Amino acid sequence: MDSKKKKALSISEGVDQAPANINPHLKRRKGGAHLRPDDYVQGIRLGNRVVLSQAITLIESKLPEHQALAQQILEACLPYAGNSFRLGITGSPGVGKSTFIERFGLDLLEQNKKITILAIDPSSQLSRGSILGDKTRMEALSRSEDVFIRPTPSGQTLGGVARKTRETIVLCEAAGFDTIIIETVGVGQSEIAVHSMVDFFLLLLLPGGGDELQGIKRGIVEMADMIAVNKADGDRLELARQAKRAYQNALHLFPPKESSWTPPVIMCSGISGMGMSDIIEQLRDFQKITKGNGTFEKKRSDQNKYWLYETIQHRLRQLFYTHPDVKKQLPVVEKAILEGKLSSFRGAEQLLKLFDHKK
Ligand code: GDP
Repeated sequence: MDSKKKKALSISEGVDQAPANINPHLKRRKGGAHLRPDDYVQGIRLGNRVVLSQAITLIESKLPEHQALAQQILEACLPYAGNSFRLGITGSPGVGKSTFIERFGLDLLEQNKKITILAIDPSSQLSRGSILGDKTRMEALSRSEDVFIRPTPSGQTLGGVARKTRETIVLCEAAGFDTIIIETVGVGQSEIAVHSMVDFFLLLLLPGGGDELQGIKRGIVEMADMIAVNKADGDRLELARQAKRAYQNALHLFPPKESSWTPPVIMCSGISGMGMSDIIEQLRDFQKITKGNGTFEKKRSDQNKYWLYETIQHRLRQLFYTHPDVKKQLPVVEKAILEGKLSSFRGAEQLLKLFDHKK
């Protein structure tokens, strides 16, 4: 494998800003620093990983000119997107997510799938210790030509990461990846973000009896389309069987899903490979059922609606807090509230008026 190829296949570091010259290998446009949007789109559609990575870097960039270019690329890629199966995988740290994804991914490759692995990792906002930042993870997968791994974009809020991940999905689909895996740590908010962009949500749990479910937020279990009792190997096998029964009983207490899909509980092991073919088969059944009764498309439409409002809220908040009068007056109002001279509602009203009248 030549070094350029190898580089494109390995996990790339997240960057805060796209470098000014993002594409040293390709001919620059006269007077412009970047390729034309059409060239990006063509490169992406041809499955060129270097161009794909560069376009994702534009999406992740905070520079307005990069953002504008990214939006043009996205729009042009949209007609070629949407044809993948989007799978969210969540579970507490240590449950075996990366080991599972490596094994599962290798089995998918045998079925000639082309896989993208993205992450939404809230901890990466605090430290650079992203769940996908560790280059030793998923080593075998990252060597494959048919796998594209990208860590959580750094320097973003969870909302920002989610938005950018959603846009990244579009580019990866346009590049021909048919299976998009989005990994997240089971800590609350990030599951909701992932759930809002995937077709199927897989919850990994450990064999530890039904008590495990107590610690996991009810909402997350409710979102799950499948529970996999992981590490069902060696001494843990019997424990895993008990856990499976306990989780099955617990799931019965939840209302049936709109899709009429009943979330199964299965046992698996990222180390022995047990359960992988079962999961692949279940995913196939899920698609057959939900595409057949229209709920697959409905979920995607609902997600589009969710993102419409999410984007509007984000933009409005941004416009509000960057408004010069609001920026000037906000500390004054805040101080008055802290000193008990003004009520929060009055304060908010005053600031909103400034925003409303002097746009
Ligand atoms: P993550 O934090 O959820 O990504 O978990 P990792 O995949 O990094 O695994 C955490 C630890 O559990 C590692 O020491 C793995 O070797 C071990 N582990 C992962 N999967 C399995 C499994 O299926 N069976 C057993 N016995 N150990 C596992």
